[in-house]
Order: sequence, then C-alpha cells, then structure tokens
Amino acid sequence: MDKMKPFEKKIWLSSPTMHGDEQKWVNDAFEKNWITTAGENVDSVETLVAEKIGCKYAVALSCGTGALHLAIKLAGEKLYGQAKPNAGTLQGHKVFCSDMTFDATVNPVAYEDGEAVFIDTERDTWNMDPVALEKAFEIYPDVKLVVLVHLYGTPAKLDEIMAVCEKYGAVLVEDAAESFGAAYKGKQTGTFGIGNIISFNGNKIITGSSGGMFLTDNKADADKVRKWSTQSREAAPWYQHEEIGYNYRMSNIIAGVVRGQMPYLEEHIAQKKAVYMRYKEGFKGLPVHMNPYDEKNSEPNFWLSCMIIDKEAMCKQVRGEQDALYISENGKSCPTEILETLAKYNAEGRPIWKPMHMQPIYRMNPFITVNGNGRGQTNAYIAGDLEDVGADIFERGLCLPSDNKMTAEEQDKIIEIIRSCFD
Ligand SMILES: *Cc1c(COP(=O)(O)O)cnc(C)c1O
Repeated sequence: MDKMKPFEKKIWLSSPTMHGDEQKWVNDAFEKNWITTAGENVDSVETLVAEKIGCKYAVALSCGTGALHLAIKLAGEKLYGQAKPNAGTLQGHKVFCSDMTFDATVNPVAYEDGEAVFIDTERDTWNMDPVALEKAFEIYPDVKLVVLVHLYGTPAKLDEIMAVCEKYGAVLVEDAAESFGAAYKGKQTGTFGIGNIISFNGNKIITGSSGGMFLTDNKADADKVRKWSTQSREAAPWYQHEEIGYNYRMSNIIAGVVRGQMPYLEEHIAQKKAVYMRYKEGFKGLPVHMNPYDEKNSEPNFWLSCMIIDKEAMCKQVRGEQDALYISENGKSCPTEILETLAKYNAEGRPIWKPMHMQPIYRMNPFITVNGNGRGQTNAYIAGDLEDVGADIFERGLCLPSDNKMTAEEQDKIIEIIRSCFD
C-alpha cells in the first residue's frame, strides 16, 4: 500500500462530462444572437425534459434552488392564499422537510417566511421516514406541505409518503435535483408532487454548468412560475408589476449546454450504476454497506455512490462544528480516516450531507424521529429514546468518488485504498 502512488489526474466525486453537442448548441445561440434568457435552446430543453420526465410542462430556470423557491412559493399560495405584498406565502406556517439533504431543499421555506420541521431519515433508502412523517402529523396536524428529496439519486418511499400526505390532506413538493432520470414503480421522480424540480448544477447527472427546471402537469402553474421568474411582468406595453418578481429564467447559453447533454442522460446513468456495482462487489468482506435502495420498486440514477461503516467497525471519531479527529485502530476505520486517505491519494470523497437538524442555522427548528420523539420548539429534546437515524448515517457514512469517467482500474485502486484503512 505504501508503495502506491497518488493518482496523477484527480479522481473527482462527480465532474461534468461533455460530449461535443453542448458546444454546438452554445455556438448556435451565438450565431443566432439569442444571448439572453429566451431562444431555441430554452424552448428545446423544456420540451426534451418534459418528454423525459413524462410531465406536461417544464419551465427552465437559472438553478434548482430558484426552481424550488418558486415551487414552494406556489404551493404556499395554493394552500394559504396570495401573500400580502412583500411577504412570503408561508407566513408562520410549518412545513415538513427532509432532514438529511442539501440545504437548498429547505432554505426556500425560510425565503417564504415558513418554518421547516425536519423529519428523520429511514435506513432503507436514506430518505424521509414515512413513519416519522406520520408522527409529525400527529404532533402538528395543521401542516399542509411536505418537501421531499430523493437523496443521491435514490427514490424515497413514495407510496408510503404519498399515503400519509393523503391521509392528512397535505401536498408534496419533490426535490429531484439529484435524481433526474430515476424512477419509482416505472414513473420518473419529479412527477409525484404538485410542483417538482430538477437541477443542472455542475456536479449533477447532467449539467448546464448551472440551471434548473420546475415540473408540473398544470398549465396555469407553469405560466405562473414562468411569469414570476421573469420579474412578474404583466401583459402591458410598459413594465407593469402587480406582484413581487424574480430573475430566475434560464439563459439560452446555459440551455445550449443542457440541450447537448440531454441525449447522454441514460449513458451517464448506466456509467454511474456500473460504478455503484463495482464498489458493491469490491467491498465484499469489508464491514461496510453501500447506500441502499428498493431493488424491487425503484431504479435510482446512482448519481453518488456512498458507503456506511458497520457500527462495530468504527474507530473513534469526534466531529466539532468545523473539524474532525479520529484515532486509528486495527480492523476499524471511520469516514474521516477514509476521506483523508482518499485525499492523500488525490481522490475526492465527501461526508454524507450533514442533517439539517444538526446545522447551526436550523438549531431552533423542530425535528421529529420515528418514535415521535425529537426536538420541540424550544430546542429541548422531547422525552424518550432518541434514535436519530440521520445523525447516525452522517457519523458512519461517506460519499465515494463517483465520477462516471473513472476507469475500472482507477476504481480498483480506490477500493484498495479504502481496504487499507481497515488494516
Ligand atoms: C443541487 C441540489 C439543489 C440545488 O440545485 P442548484 O441548481 O444547485 O441550485 C437542491 N437540492 C438538492 C438535494 C441538490 O443536490
């Protein structure tokens, strides 16, 4: 192992993979001088994405976060009526949100003056636990909106979550930013909520360098989001505004990149799946497991491969707010040791997305676990055993180098490096 040299070319977590068509459509925008937030590329990607997802309308926006903002704003307006000028549509209302996710999933709830209540994670797909969600409705029966992520490209337990939403008369917004192309019972993620989103950020399964989409079957909703995203201009000869607007529309240049990527979505998914399967095979005999998915009902897009170390095989690891320490032990390891070792060899892994209820910015928000325990409004833990699944996966899990351009040989070396951490 000591004789092994670092990778000459860095192995990335997930880097963009360009094919040539992207440049062609960008050039097309230049040639036609559509250097703005409209043009053939924008129109084309909206059609292509709606076709792929199987929804009626896709609205091209500047980023996934902006798409989520407008999806959540729209849900708020439908549930609670139009906001007063200059106010958010969620004004004081609680919203149930995935807890183990990227903060872009939940920040828009705050943009709209709502309060996120974090729902703990289950162990079968690492997504929102439908049992914890039901407990949350028992505690806060008035909640009407649920924001659900499909983490790392793995579909959540949609049947169970939809059933709980239906039982309590709530609606769903899906954050499919990481799961474009993934399906649940044959239906694409991004089609289950009343308004859903995907992202084309630089490290996603396909990219425009940035960009996102709002997805819906409702024409009025698509029109509304398109209007909000272009500064809420009314149909008047001058700039006429009756409501607050945003500058969230996708650029025709960015859309050219996305347009060029679209034909390669399935190829990228196949490559990502191969990466996942090679890790699964390569880790045999080690005290670790891959991030799980429902093999019967779901087809992830395998955007990121992750692993979790068995409890008994964890060496001592302590994390503060900004740093981490560990004590190396024979036969054991921990995410910090593995990530540091990968970095030493010029390969990029990443910790599991730190759960929102553990983030300083959200320390005062309620958090509900599967036992109906968790954290109440005063930041005091509600009595009872606290099984905090998100904190446990964060403690023992990590995201592996998952680049689709990594060769089998390079991946074998990554696997060997990880094995050496358990020596
Ligand atoms: C990337 C991502 C987003 C945000 O998308 P951007 O296009 O980067 O704004 C939202 N949610 C999740 C889960 C993401 O991974």
